[in-house]
Order: sequence, then C-alpha cells, then structure tokens
Amino acid sequence: MRIVVGIKWVPNTQAVRIDPETGTLIRKGVPSIVNPHDLPAIEAALRLRDTVGGEVIAFAMAPPPAVKGLELALGMGVDRAILITDRVFAGADTWATSYVLGNAIVKIEREYGRVDLAVFGQETIDSSTAHIPGQVASWLNWPYAYYVRDIQVSGDSKIRIVRELEEYVEEYEVELPAVLGIAMRALKPRPVSLYNKLRAKLDKNVIITWSNSDLKLDPRCVGLKGSPTIVAKTIDMPEVPRKKEVYKPRDPRDGAKWIISKIVEDEKLRELLVKKLWGE
Ligand SMILES: Cc1cc2nc3c(=O)[nH]c(=O)nc-3n(C[C@H](O)[C@H](O)[C@H](O)COP(=O)(O)OP(=O)(O)OC[C@H]3O[C@@H](n4cnc5c(N)ncnc54)[C@H](O)[C@@H]3O)c2cc1C
Repeated sequence: MRIVVGIKWVPNTQAVRIDPETGTLIRKGVPSIVNPHDLPAIEAALRLRDTVGGEVIAFAMAPPPAVKGLELALGMGVDRAILITDRVFAGADTWATSYVLGNAIVKIEREYGRVDLAVFGQETIDSSTAHIPGQVASWLNWPYAYYVRDIQVSGDSKIRIVRELEEYVEEYEVELPAVLGIAMRALKPRPVSLYNKLRAKLDKNVIITWSNSDLKLDPRCVGLKGSPTIVAKTIDMPEVPRKKEVYKPRDPRDGAKWIISKIVEDEKLRELLVKKLWGE
C-alpha cells in the first residue's frame, strides 16, 4: 500500500500577523514547527504500512526551511519525502494550495506507482480552515472521510474506518484510493528514532524537491494569482487591559478568600462559596 501524508510547516505560535498591504501572513522572525495535528496523521500512515506493507511518502508545499519538518517525518519512519517549493506557489489560499497538492499526488503516482491513501491532519494551528483534505479529494475525485481515528484494511482495495464524533463513533467501509483527515487526538505519535534521523541526514535521495518546472502547472492557477479568496480587511485584536493587584494574605485561607472575592462577582454566591468551603 502506498500512502502519502501531507505535512504543513507552521509558525510556532497562534499569534500570526497579517500584512495589511498584501493581506498575506507575515512569517519572518517566527520559528516554525510541523503542524502538531499532522503527527497523528503520520502515525496513522506508519501503523498501516507496518501492518500491510508498502511505503509512506510525506509531502509538503512550503518554502525551503520546511525540509526540517520533512526530516522529522523521516525520523519517525516515513520512507521518503517530497518538498514542493517554488516562488510561484507563494501567497496561495486553500484552493491554490490543494490544487498543487492534488497535482503532486498525480505526479507521485506517475513516478512511484498507485497511491492508495492520502492522509492529512485534521487542521492546522495557523490557518485552521480544515479545507485542504476535502479539497484535495475533490481535485482527485476520491472519497473523503474526516475525524478518522482508526483504519483497518478490510478487503481488496477497501478499508474500514472509525470516525470519532462528539457523542458517538461511526464505522464506514471506504473504497480506495481515498483521502482521510485524521482526528487530532486519535493516535499518539511515535518518537523520532536515531537510526531514521541519521538516514534522513545521510541519504541524499530520501528528500526530493519539486518545483513548478516538475509539476508544470499553469502559473495563473497557483500561488497568489490562482487564489480566488482574498483577505479584504483585517481587524486588529482589541487590547485587553490588564490590572495588576498585589495582596499579602495573612494565611492561605485568607489568600483563597481574597481570590474568590476577585473572581466571583455575585456577593451572595461568594458568601455561599466561602460558607461551603470554611463553614463560616
Ligand atoms: C485568503 C487566503 C490567503 C492566504 N494567503 C497566504 C499567503 O500569502 N501565504 C501563506 O503562506 N499562506 C496563505 N494562506 C494560507 C494558506 O492558504 C494555507 O496555509 C493553506 O492553504 C493550508 O490551509 P490550512 O492551514 O487552513 O490547512 P488545513 O486545511 O487546516 O490543513 C489540514 C491538513 O492539510 C495538510 N496541509 C495543509 N497545508 C499543507 C501544505 N502546504 N502542504 C502539505 N500538507 C498540507 C496538513 O496535513 C493539515 O493538517 C492564505 C489563506 C487564505 C484563505
């Protein structure tokens, strides 16, 4: 079974600023990490490969520093990685991003053979639209299931999946090839192994880079030019005033009472709470 797993290289903060001129994200100066919700997706792909055999290919459309994210995936045990990077892809909205990723899967099939599954994280911590997996499925015309927490091969070219919903779970049989979005807390990701990490560093062929001269996509359909959505307006986050107060309690009980008096506004409720806690 050949499984591809999408990885996004994201700023290590949710406080991403937006350039008011261009409406695009300002990433400069912000350290980046692999989107944490992609780690369970990598784990799901690896478990499936370890059970039925085959290979896992991690891929990311991102600027060159994202190679570090792919190295982490390789360190976890992914077989190979593809960095899709080109200036022409910059400024993409989710439509243009998923278009590139969908076409990258088509190229992976041409280069390496049939792709059975494309797995993605549930969402990202920077944009968190959760658009990408569904859109990739649409470009490829493959079935799509999300909030997936378990995958078992159930027959020739079929898998049985468990979807985790708020109050219940659902089971489906899905025809392959398919796209899955893995639920964010579904699986504990395995740690990076030293052997895999060294392999990623030493084997120069394990990470491949594709630009648009490899994918040959119409430049009008990718990046900012190919993005039908625009950031029309950004609203500054309102400043939350912080008032610092210092209180020196006589003893812990006095300190606790003071904290209650600060967080419980209703006087009657406050008295009731103090009575319940201290019988006063
Ligand atoms: C109007 C608009 C303008 C934008 N402009 C810019 C811009 O100028 N510069 C910029 O950097 N971003 C820009 N973005 C954000 C960019 O579109 C998203 O980063 C990207 O499309 C992924 O969307 P998401 O983070 O919401 O992913 P989600 O849909 O929340 O991600 C779900 C999963 O898809 C996979 N995935 C997501 N992105 C990738 C990827 N690139 N490669 C591989 N797998 C992936 C991961 O597995 C992830 O867990 C813009 C977005 C919008 C809506």
